[in-house]
Amino acid sequence: MSGRVILLGGGPGDPGLLTLKGAQALKQAEVVVYDRLVAPELLDLTSPQCERIYVGKQAAHHTMKQEEINAVLIEKARQGKVVVRLKGGDVYVFGRGGEEALALKQAGIPFEVIPGISSCLAGPAYAGIPVTQRGLAQGFEVVTAQDQTGSSDFLDFQRLAANPGTLVFMMGLSRLESLMQGLKKAGKDPQTPCAVISRATCADQRVLISTIGEVAQAARQREDLISPALIVVGAVSRLHHQLYSPSRGRVLVARVGDEQSELAKRLRMAGMDCDEVQTGRIRFLPVVVNKERLRQTDWLCFTSRNGIRGFFAALKAQRLDSRALAGIRIAVIGSGCAAELSKEGIQPEVVPQSFNSHQLSEQWLARLRPHHHVLLVQGRQASTQLYQAISAHARCWRLCVYDNEAADIVLPLKKWDLVAFSCASSVQRLLQSQPQLAHLRCVAIGPATSAALRRYGVAQIVEAPQSRMAAMAEVIEQLLEGRADHAAGESESDR
Ligand code: SAH
Repeated sequence: MSGRVILLGGGPGDPGLLTLKGAQALKQAEVVVYDRLVAPELLDLTSPQCERIYVGKQAAHHTMKQEEINAVLIEKARQGKVVVRLKGGDVYVFGRGGEEALALKQAGIPFEVIPGISSCLAGPAYAGIPVTQRGLAQGFEVVTAQDQTGSSDFLDFQRLAANPGTLVFMMGLSRLESLMQGLKKAGKDPQTPCAVISRATCADQRVLISTIGEVAQAARQREDLISPALIVVGAVSRLHHQLYSPSRGRVLVARVGDEQSELAKRLRMAGMDCDEVQTGRIRFLPVVVNKERLRQTDWLCFTSRNGIRGFFAALKAQRLDSRALAGIRIAVIGSGCAAELSKEGIQPEVVPQSFNSHQLSEQWLARLRPHHHVLLVQGRQASTQLYQAISAHARCWRLCVYDNEAADIVLPLKKWDLVAFSCASSVQRLLQSQPQLAHLRCVAIGPATSAALRRYGVAQIVEAPQSRMAAMAEVIEQLLEGRADHAAGESESDR
């Protein structure tokens, strides 16, 4: 297939603001050429084979000159690659996207444009500022505060000051004072409301609301107003005080494995700032499922998604499939496991929602008989509590199909309202390397995780009523709204 270029607007910073079409383009990219303003999470959507080329672009010191960027796009496309040129915000709003498009046209390279949400719209929106509002602003004008040479001389302040609509300045933070001077000299009322929006739509977005007479002085006292930033001038800026809704909370989610955690996904959807820290990596073990043992098995029990993945991978490696399990009854813990199992076309007989031995005995252990054989599939680090509970009722074999190996812990420099743990190993690894987190409120998925938190001296522990991500997300939402105050239950059993 011949090469082509997709000029893609990646949105202003919040990765959730990428378009569906943009996500599809990133998935099929063989090369991605990206800028500084692009949300790093977007690169995670590309395949592992995709070549990533950073071309920088920072005011004053461009990492790669525009001509060089154009040359890279043309060269990679000529090699037959699908090249995604990923830019911050929208492609054609001050991003020199038009120049890139012209260069591609001239070189005869096929290209496509996928617009993005520009910061000039999303920034004010996330700051609670509608750029138009009946009675306040009948329109808006987006202007750059500097040309290619870095000069502002081209700005016609008379015309800008006479515009009764909203003004949005881009690339203007370093010129804030002279911009406001220009507007005042041209007759704009110094009391005109204005806003500075720094790192709009990102987790560390900051907003300053002031007037054009005072904003320069006020901004000097705020170290957190950093680039990229927008300057909004006009009466609509004041609506911030009524319409701005700050993030619903900041949560640190400890996760095992490379994938974005299901919990983090849910929390982000609910409007929370969520950081993830990876505490472990899953390594599947080269196990052999003993066919003879399988023939004798009455019940198969899975306690985690990874257990199911590892078990079926082992079956496949032995050229077996789900028919090898015909006649065996299956118990899984939690609906996440049930969903994973359904990918294999199998519905479990029993789905207790937690490891709590009361529920287990009601729902399942009571059905076991001494002559029953149970095959318990787990990770190597799982505690032996469930094994012991089953062994009290039936014969139990334990098959470990994966290892949860410690990962190097990399923590962003931030403050969180609470930390969420979905397994005891994460507690141990994270709190050992970051003991200061023990002072925060911690949410545990179940009793074993709560017990681990107690061992590390965490005083404020809240346990999800069921061992499920949905239940955890619900508890976290309630906590951040100040509604819940559960105490952790006693440790009864573990996965
Ligand atoms: N194509 C981009 C704009 C690129 S020019 C878009 O449509 O958003 C770079 C300028 O955009 C910055 O100087 C700043 O004024 C603005 N900008 C981009 N992302 C921003 C963000 N997250 N917060 C505030 N301003 C941003």
